[in-house]
Amino acid sequence: MVVVAVIVLFANATAFAWGGDGHRVVGDIAWHRLTPAAQKEVGRLLALDEGYRTLADACVWADDIRRDRSYRWASRLHYLNIPKSERAYVEDRDCRPKTDCPANTKCPPRDCVVSAIMFYLEVLRDEEATDQEKLVAVKFVGHFVGDIHQPLHAGYARDRGGNDIRVEFNHNVTNLHKVWDSMMLRELGRWSDLSESLVGELKIDAFESRVDSWSADLDAANWAIESNMIVPRLYQDIPKSGQIGNPYLKKHTPLIREQLQKAGVRLAGVLNKALDRQTEEGSKE
Ligand SMILES: [Zn+2]
Repeated sequence: MVVVAVIVLFANATAFAWGGDGHRVVGDIAWHRLTPAAQKEVGRLLALDEGYRTLADACVWADDIRRDRSYRWASRLHYLNIPKSERAYVEDRDCRPKTDCPANTKCPPRDCVVSAIMFYLEVLRDEEATDQEKLVAVKFVGHFVGDIHQPLHAGYARDRGGNDIRVEFNHNVTNLHKVWDSMMLRELGRWSDLSESLVGELKIDAFESRVDSWSADLDAANWAIESNMIVPRLYQDIPKSGQIGNPYLKKHTPLIREQLQKAGVRLAGVLNKALDRQTEEGSKE
């Protein structure tokens, strides 16, 4: 009975957003790219948390709390929708003002992933914020930077970011959103091995200009547009039968790897900027 309960819990925990594994990969890549000062501050904050001692684990927290009713206000912070014909992020249209913030809680002013990333980075920079507030902020930022790089978290409202697109992946009935959140990632092996390979790749010279261009753009609104522009590619190659499997996975594996790398590089970029004063001053020169 206990075993069944554990399996059910685990299955639920991995049902959202890059699954747990994608978020762990993003956190791990970022950790390897933090400056010593930023690493020290993230480490200091995470040491205050019993359950999430590494940045990789901390990036999963925001999905774990989705089962907790007291965090229901945070559920719309994981994504945004941009209409299919649009090529810009328009705050009034794509990110509505937040109306359900509980008392004594630090909530973003608007109800989407872009506002959430910007707001919790502000908390990390705020000298008046308490350590507990900063701990929550580092866990939310780590998670939401991952989410915004899963293209279907910046998809279309009309099919709820692919949640309404029924497909079969390797003969399991599911939807396109879940395929991209977790099912394809599971086929790519253990998250720690995947992360090691992605971290290693980022260090080679051939990646330098790519990494530079990713880290030059630290504006979450631009990341949302970039993801939204990728979305049409995810719908291509789905046959009328809705049955997708290894050929689809094989075709899109380079994109999955790149989105995880981009998210990790940019997460490190924004954390370094927020937590390492030297980086901040250096970037102003
Ligand atoms: Zn999420």
